[in-house]
Amino acid sequence: MEEKTRQQPISHFARRQEVRKRSSLERIRDFDEVSLGFNQDQAMSEAGRCFQCPAPKCVRACPVGIDIPEFIKHIQNDDYRAAVKVLKNRNSIPEVTGRVCPQETLCEAVCILAKRGEPVAIGALERFVADSAEEQELDVQRPSGKKVAVIGSGPAALTVAADLQKLGHQVVIYEALHESGGVLTYGIPAFRLPKEIVKKAINYIQRLGVKIEKNIVIGKSLTIDDLLESGFDAIFIGSGAGSPKFLGILGENLIGVFSASEFLTRCNLMKAYKFPEYDTPISVGQRVAVIGGGNVAMDTARTALRLGAKEVRVVYRRTEKEMPARVEEVENAKNEGVQFMTLVNLVKILGNEEVQVRGLECIRMKLGEVDSSGRRKPVEIKGSNFTLDSDTVIVATGQGPNPIISQTTPGLKIDGEGYIVVDGRGRTSRPRVWAAGDIVPNSATVIEAMGGGRNASRDIHLFLQQVGHIRNRNWLG
Ligand code: FAD
Ligand code: SF4
Repeated sequence: MEEKTRQQPISHFARRQEVRKRSSLERIRDFDEVSLGFNQDQAMSEAGRCFQCPAPKCVRACPVGIDIPEFIKHIQNDDYRAAVKVLKNRNSIPEVTGRVCPQETLCEAVCILAKRGEPVAIGALERFVADSAEEQELDVQRPSGKKVAVIGSGPAALTVAADLQKLGHQVVIYEALHESGGVLTYGIPAFRLPKEIVKKAINYIQRLGVKIEKNIVIGKSLTIDDLLESGFDAIFIGSGAGSPKFLGILGENLIGVFSASEFLTRCNLMKAYKFPEYDTPISVGQRVAVIGGGNVAMDTARTALRLGAKEVRVVYRRTEKEMPARVEEVENAKNEGVQFMTLVNLVKILGNEEVQVRGLECIRMKLGEVDSSGRRKPVEIKGSNFTLDSDTVIVATGQGPNPIISQTTPGLKIDGEGYIVVDGRGRTSRPRVWAAGDIVPNSATVIEAMGGGRNASRDIHLFLQQVGHIRNRNWLG
């Protein structure tokens, strides 16, 4: 256990601590982490700001229900080991969520100090504790004799795997790629989420006893029915939404047009930025246009800068206020030199005789009525078309589910966009099969995937406890 050396005075009225960052000049030259997190004194001072509210709203706002005042109290007492235990009771990968969770719209948004504009920096404290605490002893119940197959190894799948393995069920993860972690590994760049942090989180889950089988595509190598017939009592699908969506405009087939998924996967998973040390190259031109305004667009733009682009522009059809990206990441992108063209929409991509991108035709937009997303709808300003020089276009306007599992699983109900339909417990239309994360409708963040996974794992556990008694009932199929 960490030595209890210091007892800092508690001051609820101290200013919120600023997370330390590397300078923009230094950080755009490499893929090392931008944020340096809190040091010990900052963490202690920030923890001292927490009021320890008796009915804390932050806990309810956290999709996995972390006991936030409790873990912060342990930081105040200099007991990081106890703090991390509280975190891991509810969240098996706090080193990840502490870095990428949109805290500003969740736990921190409802902190009593948010009224003063400076909520307790819950995410930064979570990261600090997860990074600082010593290895925890593992708390796993005795084997239940039940087996669960988990498809995918992103945050939803890792949550379900950890929860169920801790409860004594044997979990086997089937991952299509040669690395585990889902978007945490191949999507979010190392300068925001270092790969050794993701490996540490996965290593913890393997130490619990979860087995990971890589390079197995469910729907191709094996089907859901093969898994059920081979003796698994329950299946969880956490296959995410990794198929890129294109815009369906002229010029999308030109050389120099990428989907953000391909661009980031080549860079993160195949280490294109270390070519020729690694096999997969990626060519990024001098003038890069990134289409979209979400986290994926910010990550893509910042990656393109680091790969040597002279000029990177984000082209977004609404205003900055409507951008779905985290505010912090938009600021980071700006400080690194990414330019923003808002209220601009892409009309077509222009090519030269060598069928390579030479520019974009764009149109200016204005905001109209509020649409179904709750944001004001962008409307074209007639006749405002203009062209923009560019040699690389990266489309970051969204991803959807890959149909391979739904096409090979008879009776699995999907909606009009291919997402798997689930009930409030994460159950699909197929008996013994649950799903959560980006593969189900209305989930788009790491912590939503984990919250959905936790919901499903609770129901899977209840089901497994009863399985011996109810094997012949209809729901078992
Ligand atoms: P995923 O993370 O997508 O993982 C799914 C896994 O399933 C993958 O490993 C895939 O290979 C595997 N798989 C798919 N099909 C099969 C199959 N047939 N057989 C076996 N395995 C299969 N969210 C945030 O909260 N904060 C952020 O800052 C943030 N930034 C993002 C940046 C980028 C570039 C991207 C792409 C997303 C970002 N997100 C962010 C969203 C977040 O990463 C996702 O919502 C989350 O990862 C979804 O988790 P998941 O478990 O559903 O699936
Ligand atoms: Fe807040 Fe996310 Fe941590 Fe929950 S997991 S306490 S929402 S930062």
